[in-house]
Amino acid sequence: MSTPATSRHHKRPRGEGQWALGYREPLNKNEENKKNDDGLNVRQRIIDIYSKRGFDSIDPADLRGRMRWYGLYTQRKPGIDGGKTAILEPEELDDRYFMLRVRIDGGQLSIPQLRVIADISNDYGRGTADLTDRQNVQLHWIEIESVPDIWERLEAVGLSTTEACGDTPRVILGCPLAGIDTDEVLDASEEIRLLNERFIGDPAFSNLPRKFKSAVSGCPSHCTVHEINDVAFVGVELPSGEKGYDLWVGGGLSTNPMFGKRLGVFVRPEQVGDVYGGVIGIFRDYGYRRLRHRARIKFLVNDWGVEKFREVLETEYLKEALPDGPAPEAPRGSRRDHVGVHPQKDGNFYVGFAPKVGRLDGDKLHVIADIAERHGSGRVRTTVEQKMVVLDVPPDQVDSLVAELEANDLQVNPSTFRRQTMACTGIEFCKLAIVETKATAANLIDELERRLPDFAEPLTINVNGCPNSCARIQVADIGLKGQLVVDENGEQVEGYQIHLGGSLGVNPGFGRKVRGLKTTAEALPDYVERVVKHYDAQKKEGESFAD
Ligand code: SF4
Repeated sequence: MSTPATSRHHKRPRGEGQWALGYREPLNKNEENKKNDDGLNVRQRIIDIYSKRGFDSIDPADLRGRMRWYGLYTQRKPGIDGGKTAILEPEELDDRYFMLRVRIDGGQLSIPQLRVIADISNDYGRGTADLTDRQNVQLHWIEIESVPDIWERLEAVGLSTTEACGDTPRVILGCPLAGIDTDEVLDASEEIRLLNERFIGDPAFSNLPRKFKSAVSGCPSHCTVHEINDVAFVGVELPSGEKGYDLWVGGGLSTNPMFGKRLGVFVRPEQVGDVYGGVIGIFRDYGYRRLRHRARIKFLVNDWGVEKFREVLETEYLKEALPDGPAPEAPRGSRRDHVGVHPQKDGNFYVGFAPKVGRLDGDKLHVIADIAERHGSGRVRTTVEQKMVVLDVPPDQVDSLVAELEANDLQVNPSTFRRQTMACTGIEFCKLAIVETKATAANLIDELERRLPDFAEPLTINVNGCPNSCARIQVADIGLKGQLVVDENGEQVEGYQIHLGGSLGVNPGFGRKVRGLKTTAEALPDYVERVVKHYDAQKKEGESFAD
């Protein structure tokens, strides 16, 4: 795909570093590093040099930049509190160990793949294995020396860490039930596979202005949260019965949350590759590169508006007009997580279960693989809610499978609190974190289950360690943004700014940040208990928390 020539009608008053407008000179350090050497090129240096000579041999520009193109970030050095996050230099926060993100496009895993991740976790990651809210598995404590062997093992079973992080097209979200859901609009598995084959690891798309998050799904529950992806293809059906996708662009949370916007076009399944290429091409060529915090596609979409975005996509990139298309149907049900036992199209069942805040370990992954296999399943899935699903369970195996999962604290019938509380990585490993998250959220679940055993309404609680919103603060019923707060003794302690009433779906809205509404981490269970009791007492028939 060629880079379009500079054109006057796209010009902004001040240079934003848009390549298509002729701004090819890097305007910041990140852009300079990317121009100096493509992120994908670090792979060979890891294999040939860094893994052999050790951590100290790593070029700083690779360590804090290009490593991400292969899912590698340095972990936070243990013992540095959140108050130091903003004032220390990056190298002072860097541990000698890495976090490694394994991309699991569409959340699709075979049993052998799950076992390989489990073995890598145990052999090289001190047993760590967290499910992320983008269907990936994240390992910790990885040493640079072990990376080539890890890649070899992953690649032998068709997995990869390529472009799991970095300014790249990251994992492509898909419905865990693709192909088996009785109500699905269409099965997007083939589109996801082809996008992966065509775009991931292609140097033509490995220097984007920033990260690029994608989702392709025909899920009737809208489980891939299309509203907050950079690009999303959402299954729809025309009155004629033809099935395809509604295209959304420009969603994203972080510090400037925006919902994706419909371009109003109908994309046939065989056009998904070209349309994806067009959207990612626009982002690469016209995306803002001057300021990192404005370098997501949502800012461009917001400035251009959907008409102009569609026009540029059709005229400059696709060279053809796309037909108008319908909006997706309202989502099925009020939960998007696929937890529980449900029938599949083919007479078998799928069983979704909830580990606590996505935290698993190598041994537990083996347990899941063994249980699934013993009960006739060859496939498991990860979800965007930090959950997992076992597919293809024969009817006569369901009860036994459920019993075994639950015996291992992998709950198939969890409380609302276990089911709908998510937590990001937090200060345990993340260099940007201000507060702890996973243990705080796990404790919150335990406390709420004890205090409110009968509460069964849908209610999402998303715990984040900083304003970056990896665990989607703004679209939770109760969104918690980690920050230091002052406790009753006047001491600075870990706590959270509270956002209330965020939601996705038919009437999406960002949670309201009530000025001054904060809680210490210690008082968090008391605070949430009060809010939930208040909601329970006041709610009218059919009224959700966000209402
Ligand atoms: Fe780290 Fe902040 Fe993201 Fe949590 S929200 S994983 S603390 S960057």
